[in-house]
Amino acid sequence: MYSAVVENFLRYVKIDTQSLEQYADKTPSTEKQRDLAVLLRDELLVLGASNVRYDEEHCYVYAEIPSNLRVKKRVPKIGFIAHMDTSEAVSGANVKPRIIENYDGEDIVLDEKLNIVTRVSEFPMLKACKGKSLIVTDGSTLLGGDDKAGVAEIMAMAEYFLRHPEVEHGKICIGFTPDEEVGNGVAFFDIDGFDADYAYTVDGGELGDMSYECFNAAGATLTVKGKSVHPGYAKNIMKNAITLAYEFISTISGECPENTEGYGGFYHVDSIHGDVEKAVVEFIIRDHDSKKFEQRIQTVRNNVEMLNSKYGEKRFTVEIKEQYRNMRERIEKELYIVEYAVEAMRRAGVEPKVSPIRGGTDGARLSFDGLLCPNICTGSEGHHGRNEFACIEDMETIVEILKNIVLLPCSE
Ligand SMILES: [Zn+2]
Repeated sequence: MYSAVVENFLRYVKIDTQSLEQYADKTPSTEKQRDLAVLLRDELLVLGASNVRYDEEHCYVYAEIPSNLRVKKRVPKIGFIAHMDTSEAVSGANVKPRIIENYDGEDIVLDEKLNIVTRVSEFPMLKACKGKSLIVTDGSTLLGGDDKAGVAEIMAMAEYFLRHPEVEHGKICIGFTPDEEVGNGVAFFDIDGFDADYAYTVDGGELGDMSYECFNAAGATLTVKGKSVHPGYAKNIMKNAITLAYEFISTISGECPENTEGYGGFYHVDSIHGDVEKAVVEFIIRDHDSKKFEQRIQTVRNNVEMLNSKYGEKRFTVEIKEQYRNMRERIEKELYIVEYAVEAMRRAGVEPKVSPIRGGTDGARLSFDGLLCPNICTGSEGHHGRNEFACIEDMETIVEILKNIVLLPCSE
């Protein structure tokens, strides 16, 4: 028997909950996510959580642990959210987790025959796990720590408070969501019914990681109209849409993901397809700074205009759609939410590392919809790949951090 969080994790990763982009027009995108939702609902009921709800239409699970404070005192209602689905990057079916006790700090061979190895040089965070116990895959699937580690930790925290009614705390709100990986994790999230004053998504990586900043994000589609004629007689007549598309790309390709890090924003061309007559370029625009983000959008529009005037007609059109916003501008007005989590980590003996996410989170969308929601670590890493791993001791520490987050406002 392992600790509750590890037992939870091993049980949840064996359930395939892969979400699929191609069916993202409905939520849940895949029916199999319900298998875990129903299990979580049942486990919450058995543990004695209150107001356990399974939203059958959209596959969300909610529960509450009411305040048991004996003295009347105003403490915040704190929410915890994790997503049940896994990425479609690698299969999540028949996950066979393997536990490595007392990890020696060396490269981990997952599949000897296929030479699937988790290398310390590629995953330097492994160094911090030396001497601890790891959960890894057999190399044929992902592990699913993103975000079943978060689910397992929230469930272990809930179990603790439900089994220890003598420990006083304020109201705890729990939410498990589908389809985070296809961008719809909180599309149908019931913020009013959830009834938290603020919340945390438990969906980060390395122990100590925490973030309340993410990108401002937009997606863009550039359509290029060409002109096809016989290539043998094309001189000064043909307009090759593919070449024109590359000409546009060259105006934005300097700041790309592979050249940027930290607070560096970028343009990223996702796909290009087409022929001489017509080409379509899909790309995304990202920046933490909202001014620079607006400038990037303007740069794209300017470049399109510049090319149209160069060719003397409207061959380029671009459509830009905002995807999500940096939650920092909301959360920095209520920074105590971050400070509680930082203090909760310190009390668990963990040095917090607050850093910007180079992506988005469900919490970003929730923060703009009225539920402020920074993101904290899960102790699992290498997400979306076969090399994913989770550290047992770190997951256990994160359960302590979640407990501290609940208890801190009560002790003030
Ligand atoms: Zn995740």
